[in-house]
Amino acid sequence: MRSLPQWAVAAAAAAGGGALIAVLLRRWREQVSGQAELYPGLQASCTVPSPRRSKPTAADVIALGHVVIVGAGIVGLAIANELARRGCEVTVLEKEMAAGTQATALSWAWINANSKKPKHYQRFNMLAMDLWNLMFPGYVNWCGSLLLNENPKQEVDEYPCHKVEWSQVPDLQPGIACETLGGTSGTKSGCSYFPSEGITEPHKVINEMLRRAEARQVRLVYGATVTGFPWDIEGDVRGVTYVLHGSQGWDGPQTITADVVVLSNGTGVEQLAKSAGFKVPLLHKPGFLAHTEPVKDVVKRVIVSPNCHILQRENGSLVIGESKEAGGASSVAYAVDRYAHEGFRSNMPPASHSEEQEDEELAELSTFGHRALGAAKSILPVIEEAKLSRVTCGYRPFPEDGLPVIGFCSSSCSTRSPGLYIAVMHSGITLAPLAGAAAALEIAEGLDLDLLAPYRVNRFTKIFKNKGL
Ligand SMILES: Cc1cc2nc3c(=O)[nH]c(=O)nc-3n(C[C@H](O)[C@H](O)[C@H](O)COP(=O)(O)OP(=O)(O)OC[C@H]3O[C@@H](n4cnc5c(N)ncnc54)[C@H](O)[C@@H]3O)c2cc1C
Repeated sequence: MRSLPQWAVAAAAAAGGGALIAVLLRRWREQVSGQAELYPGLQASCTVPSPRRSKPTAADVIALGHVVIVGAGIVGLAIANELARRGCEVTVLEKEMAAGTQATALSWAWINANSKKPKHYQRFNMLAMDLWNLMFPGYVNWCGSLLLNENPKQEVDEYPCHKVEWSQVPDLQPGIACETLGGTSGTKSGCSYFPSEGITEPHKVINEMLRRAEARQVRLVYGATVTGFPWDIEGDVRGVTYVLHGSQGWDGPQTITADVVVLSNGTGVEQLAKSAGFKVPLLHKPGFLAHTEPVKDVVKRVIVSPNCHILQRENGSLVIGESKEAGGASSVAYAVDRYAHEGFRSNMPPASHSEEQEDEELAELSTFGHRALGAAKSILPVIEEAKLSRVTCGYRPFPEDGLPVIGFCSSSCSTRSPGLYIAVMHSGITLAPLAGAAAALEIAEGLDLDLLAPYRVNRFTKIFKNKGL
């Protein structure tokens, strides 16, 4: 295993994550090398959290805890695995009949930190990128990203970024039509190259997470939609209520008790958090991607141009998005859902639409697909033969201020945690290893990580409905 590069250590320290990275590294190394834990017994224990505690105490390592995780996307599974690795009993409830089928499957899956603001958030992403190497070695193709027609932005000092002249672009990505983008060797504006960025294959990561979850005896229940929470007399969440559906037909509501409930159900977090009395405003931002039939290996980097962005999956398919996305196109959700069997997919529930509207929406999607592919071909003529195979529409779990929401729900008028932990974020592919490790440290070991301070739930408002208190 390679050691952390200096810039990552500096980034972690600057972000207040020095202690975190030290703990993560030590734990990870101990696990992979089979050495004993520094804290004997911690692996077989799980603490009931206290938001005020900063270090595990002797009592912590005795109490066994059960954590219920809502949602088996990349974020929920990352947290589940890290908790199970620390000895927690973990149950994951997933409404679909398989894991990772929603935002995770519909993602572009670029692992990057460039241009992310503010600086603490950029550093947070940088730390997450390095954890990919430590926790999922071999699962990221670190091919680098080429931002065409963009001069380097003001990145944090340690982040690798090169200014590239147009004349150098073909060395990084053969076949680019520089002239289409107005770039000639004489023009002043150039491009930016970020060598440390990459892409992953979400389905492979999900499979690996499932393999680890099984080995760690995480209990996964599919076809289980969480609908609410049972409360104890002190007003704390003490589990979840869910309905089971699927091949056996519909069963009535069931309850499962837990010491901690983690809401990592992507776009569904807002609604469930609200029913528990917490405000987590999410923007419903659709992202359309055009996928082609596999073509020969031509796209060497992640390419981002003013019109479109392109990457190539391991199976040879090109995945293309538009750089200036049309906002608020929620009306297409129904059409993409209805035509799922024809290759159009979405992770939002269908609205009721007339047949006429559906036809219009389908036409809109098809137009998008051909327009995006056309834009890609104009900057990369070597893909001229590529054929559109499908269009996907994914709704991002996008907190209103663009930053992740990670942490216990706590109220300003109570010192107790109500047993509810939230983890929802855009860039969840990039951030999943860090979100999983950090959340597990807080839940299982009672740490209160400075690293997560900017991402707490209560920044949106304090509790607005304090159930039971
Ligand atoms: C088009 C697009 C492009 C993107 N590009 C990138 C990118 O390049 N890089 C990047 O880092 N990120 C990107 N993202 C964002 C990234 O994909 C998401 O942040 C990430 O996948 C979120 O993972 P998640 O596990 O939180 O959500 P999800 O994958 O949506 O998982 C949530 C799970 O919860 C389940 N669920 C929902 N409600 C309930 C309930 N009530 N009960 C039980 N289960 C429930 C769902 O079925 C789902 O399986 C992109 C997203 C989209 C849509």
